[in-house]
Amino acid sequence: ESAEGPAAESTNDAAFDRARQVIPGGVNSPVRAFRSVGGTPRFLVSARGPYVTDVEGREYVDLVASWGPAILGHAHPEVVAAVQDAASRGLSFGASTPAETELAELVVDRLAVTPGAGHLRGASLVTTRLIDELRLVSTGTEATMTAIRLARGATGRDLVIKFSGLYHGHSDGLLADAGSGLATLALPASAGVPAPIAGQTIVLPYNDRAAVEAAFAEHGEQIAAIITEAAPANMGVVTPRPGFNAFLAETAHAHGALLILDEVLTGFRVGPAGFWALDAFAIREEDDGSRHLVSPTYLPDLVTYGKVIGGGMPLAALGGRRELMEKLAPVGPVYQAGTLSGNPVAVAAGLATLRLADANVYHRLDVVAEAISDAVDDALTASGVPHFISRAGNLFSIQFRETPALDYAGVQAQDAFRYGPFFHAMLEQGVSLPPSVFEAWFVTAAHDDTAVNRVLDALPVAAHAAAAA
Ligand code: PMP
Repeated sequence: ESAEGPAAESTNDAAFDRARQVIPGGVNSPVRAFRSVGGTPRFLVSARGPYVTDVEGREYVDLVASWGPAILGHAHPEVVAAVQDAASRGLSFGASTPAETELAELVVDRLAVTPGAGHLRGASLVTTRLIDELRLVSTGTEATMTAIRLARGATGRDLVIKFSGLYHGHSDGLLADAGSGLATLALPASAGVPAPIAGQTIVLPYNDRAAVEAAFAEHGEQIAAIITEAAPANMGVVTPRPGFNAFLAETAHAHGALLILDEVLTGFRVGPAGFWALDAFAIREEDDGSRHLVSPTYLPDLVTYGKVIGGGMPLAALGGRRELMEKLAPVGPVYQAGTLSGNPVAVAAGLATLRLADANVYHRLDVVAEAISDAVDDALTASGVPHFISRAGNLFSIQFRETPALDYAGVQAQDAFRYGPFFHAMLEQGVSLPPSVFEAWFVTAAHDDTAVNRVLDALPVAAHAAAAA
């Protein structure tokens, strides 16, 4: 810094102006531009634990957590040390490493679930193994794109069902919007997506069993796979109706199609084995204290991971049972590759993060999510703002409507205009929320009581701003 004072870009406004000269919209991913809440995005220079710090030196309690990866909080010392150690031994080899195998083994083991663990009446202690093999890639987009190619290669079919409002990355076929009727072929959702490619996708309303049945009735022989988020969190959080994922697995399998469960966002965040384990082995405690499995166990054929698996570094993965995964090159005919796939620094971050993510971490994530979401609920109620707090495990978001939205149309039918003032009131008080009502809030295990209380203290003013909107 010069003696005359701070450099020009030491305000967020200046940093944004400068960025816009050389980066489209000043951002490298659209939601960062604050388009839906207005105002100037914060340009961040550092992050530690539950806090992020911007170019103006302001610190915020962070409820974005890099859109999911930072379950341990930012810059966890042991993760940073693992990354530094790996970096000192070489940034990228483009060759196999023992650590990739360690990570794959760890993930395969974590996805072998034994429900009940001894105190579940009537359940045999059978271990359900979700995947046998894992292929590492660099982004969630690649993971779902590859899963779809693999599903097509394995079934010899082309069509894919996705649900409206769910996000699986930005590959062409997944940027598709519903056509004019149910079970009709989709239209491009972005300029640059060829209509014939979008037309290989069928986009259906979420949580709608009849729509899925109709699509299979009409196109069953041509459908390679259904892809779904384990719990939707990219239109805000929407809870799957009980048994919906199991229904998708059953319906796909009845027609020779596959189920791709996208856990890029939920995987290793909502629980040690992702949303699948919460969902497939949901347990209800009866009045007499006995415990029962409430939904039938189901097995997706392919699962995708990202975010937490890389601990904040570019790393993602797809997994499945052996005979399916071995259809991938070099064993099988489905091509997929990556210069940086299994990058040693990213793998080190992922391994360190998953090893540290023990039962205490998941307990803290749940406690923090409950404390904050309950306080949001109370503050909005106190200000008389119609709302519903939508939850899936430790993920949650506000819906500015009184009843839970079950699909994209429902999510859109809310007083979304209330979120901008709410968001900015929180930001002014030092709390960084996702800059769109259509995003989930992400907590970390580093959110200690001090950080949580800063959020709780800011809520009444924000709720008041939402009410006045
Ligand atoms: N699937 C889901 C469920 C996601 O939430 C995301 C990203 N938010 C993706 C896929 C794409 O991942 P990436 O941004 O790493 O390409």
